[in-house]
Amino acid sequence: MEVEEKNRFVEFVKKYGIFVIVGIIIFAVALTFTLIAALHKAVPTGTTRLDFRSPMNNATIIKDFSNKELQKNETLNQWEAHLYVDFVSDDASVNSILDGTVLKIDQPYLEGTTVTIQHANGFVSVYSSLSENVLVKEGDVVSAGQKIAEIDNSAAGELSMGAHLHFALKLNNSFVDPNDYLDLQVK
Ligand SMILES: [Zn+2]
Repeated sequence: MEVEEKNRFVEFVKKYGIFVIVGIIIFAVALTFTLIAALHKAVPTGTTRLDFRSPMNNATIIKDFSNKELQKNETLNQWEAHLYVDFVSDDASVNSILDGTVLKIDQPYLEGTTVTIQHANGFVSVYSSLSENVLVKEGDVVSAGQKIAEIDNSAAGELSMGAHLHFALKLNNSFVDPNDYLDLQVK
């Protein structure tokens, strides 16, 4: 009786063992892919949403971020990458998008009056084409939503666009697409 059972088992393994092994392999591969997918979902690159305030109230985007497709710059009459997002609004106020510290206030020729603010986690926001009389100074601590300046057409590189905000977001010193981090169209 026992010998017969053993033989049955051996027969079973001979007949179906390969299916069991294949099944285990398929299960293991599927589990690996599921875990990889879950990890990607948990740590998406470039999609960490920030709890931010809009850089302008009731803002309209007139020129979006573009690092691959070149965009026509009507002022300079040339095609270029635009690592910024340009806003207009009836309200000229420009607000800090997050809590931070004013890192720099300068007036580069092409960008015009510019306020640069350092935030936590390696983020830096850059506000350009501002009027000269900014409301903050270097070293000031600002809070999210705090008015820091007003728009103007001080950016020589975008004069033909009129008064607007030329806004950039940097992460660890590199320009990033603000749309990946901020819901610019919503707020
Ligand atoms: Zn611009």
